[in-house]
Amino acid sequence: MLYRRLGTSGLQLSALSFGAWVTFGRQVGRDEARDLLALAHDRGVNYFDNAETYNNGVAEQLMGDVLADLRFPRDSYCVSSKVFFGAVDKPLPTQRGLSRKHVMEACHQALQRLRVDYLDLYFCHRPDPDTPIAETVAAMDTLVRQGKVLYWGTSEWPAEAIHEAHRVARENHLYAPAMEQPQYNLLHRERVELEYAPLYEGYGMGTTIWSPLASGLLSGKYNDGVPADSRLAQPDYEWLRESVLGHGDERLGKVRALQPIAAELGTSLAQLAIAWCLLNPHVSTVMLGASKREQLAQNLDALALLPRLDAAVAQRIRQVVEAG
Ligand code: NDP
Repeated sequence: MLYRRLGTSGLQLSALSFGAWVTFGRQVGRDEARDLLALAHDRGVNYFDNAETYNNGVAEQLMGDVLADLRFPRDSYCVSSKVFFGAVDKPLPTQRGLSRKHVMEACHQALQRLRVDYLDLYFCHRPDPDTPIAETVAAMDTLVRQGKVLYWGTSEWPAEAIHEAHRVARENHLYAPAMEQPQYNLLHRERVELEYAPLYEGYGMGTTIWSPLASGLLSGKYNDGVPADSRLAQPDYEWLRESVLGHGDERLGKVRALQPIAAELGTSLAQLAIAWCLLNPHVSTVMLGASKREQLAQNLDALALLPRLDAAVAQRIRQVVEAG
């Protein structure tokens, strides 16, 4: 495994990490979750991502049960949670958002579900227009000083809001966000490559990037329709299916055009797409998702491809994804 610093912090995360969205508690039950986490840890993955909203808390509960069962030393892995969306069975205004009240309570609930004493990383899952940024920064600072959170960050905040969080933190001597959690993949690049560029140099922020395969699209699995056992066939995820596939043939055309490059390199398209994310030095870790052991095993092998992604290959890839 390769390890990278989370921005300019001292935390070293595995370049490939593993998250629970959609899968844990829905496509993946206890035995499979155990198998996936054991495989990941065995291969050097040291970061597992989760959120209060993933399957309404069930994903965190399942991860917590399995981590306790596997008895990994607590200093051998990092675990994260995210606050903002709440859960469908908790509709009250105090049960969602980024108020001091919900940030604190969601942290305590995540600690219980994940069965840990502290969260290594804790994210504000989206910006909250109904809470002043200063209130959220102060709440996160409290959690860090209490030892319940080690590093706090944002997820999909506009750069402007992140600048504001840093300004508040600097002026009040509070802990500032150390990382962002944005989507980044061959078909979704602008925020990480352009909008966030000043954050890396200016504040030393790192990124834990999500959906490196655009929910599986970049594996090529949707080239000829939607397999019945795949994420985009899940009930309640019609919105995701529309967001991933609802662009006419443009995205699928690019995926098909990338296939020959992967074939020439003797690799799978999924591995090519994952390794490509790591060419960006501001990517601290690529968070993988998997509903099956074979997927995770294959995706973890993407690291071996990295040395062969030279400037010429990167240029060919860019030409494909920037075409049209
Ligand atoms: P990906 O884009 O890599 O999608 C993962 C899914 O693609 C798998 O569950 C599987 O779905 C399919 N897949 C994976 N590998 C292969 C393969 N080799 N061949 C074929 N199909 C494959 O990542 P995610 O979207 O899961 O994102 C990763 C993590 O990032 C999440 O688990 C979560 O922790 C985090 N995240 C954070 C968000 C945020 O807002 N902060 C938003 C979304 C994710 P299937 O088998 O069902 O087709």
